[in-house]
Amino acid sequence: MGAKYIIRLDDACQTMDHAKWLRMENLLDKYAIKPMVAVIPDNKDSSFNCERVNDNTFWNRVRAWQKKGWEIAQHGYTHEYVSKNSGDFTIGNNYSEFAGLLYRVQKEKIKKGYQLLQEKGITVTLWIAPAHTFDYDTVRALREETDITTISDGIALYPYKHKGFVWIPVQVANFIKVPFGYWTICIHPNEFSDKDFNKLESAIQKFHSQIVAMQEVKVYEGFFIKIVNYIFKIIFNLLIKYKRKFHPQVKS
Ligand SMILES: [Zn+2]
Repeated sequence: MGAKYIIRLDDACQTMDHAKWLRMENLLDKYAIKPMVAVIPDNKDSSFNCERVNDNTFWNRVRAWQKKGWEIAQHGYTHEYVSKNSGDFTIGNNYSEFAGLLYRVQKEKIKKGYQLLQEKGITVTLWIAPAHTFDYDTVRALREETDITTISDGIALYPYKHKGFVWIPVQVANFIKVPFGYWTICIHPNEFSDKDFNKLESAIQKFHSQIVAMQEVKVYEGFFIKIVNYIFKIIFNLLIKYKRKFHPQVKS
C-alpha cells in the first residue's frame, strides 16, 4: 500500500511566531493537508517568546483550525521543563514537564491543561508530550482526567493500541522515502527558515497522495504487528545513533 505520512506541528501558543504559523497554514491549505497541532494550554516556556497577541486572537485561530479539520492536541500544560527524567517512551531527551513527577502532580497539570482548552471551546482527543518525555503515570493521569484517546509518540512502524490508547508513532523531522509504515513528520514552525519552508513544499508536492489526516490512520492489532513494531524499534534506535535525519528532533 505504500507509506503514509502525517504532518504534526508543535508548539502553538499565544507567543508563537505568528507570521511563520500563518505561512505554514497557507502552505498546508494550498495542498488541503490536515495536520496534528500541538497546542500549549498555558505557555510559560520563554523560548517561544516571539510576539504576544490578544488572548482571543490566538484562541480564535485554534478554534478555526479545529473547524477546518486540523487535529488539535493538548501539548502538556505550561511547557516548562521541570524534571531531568527521560520517562518511559523517550528517544533520548532527558528533560520533561511530566516524566518522573509524582502522579498527583502530573494529574493536576493534565487536568488544568485539559480544562483550560475546554474553557476556550476546544475539546481534544489527542495528547502530545513536550519533549516526547512522559511516563506510565502520565498515561494513567490522561485516562483519569481527560477524554483523550490517542497519543502521538513512540517509535514504531504502525499505529497500535497500548494501555487503552491508540499510539501513532513519531519518527522523523523531514519526509523520507520509505516503502511502508505510518510516518509522522514532526515540524516546529517557530524555528522554520525560508529554506525549510521551500524544502517542505517540495516534499509535499512529491508525497502529496500519501499524506493523511489523523482520522484516516488505520490502527493495527495483534501479535504480528507487535513483532513488526518491536523489530522496527530496535533497527530504528540503531539508525538514529548514526543518521541524524532519522531523529524526530531534540526539542519538542
Ligand atoms: Zn513542544
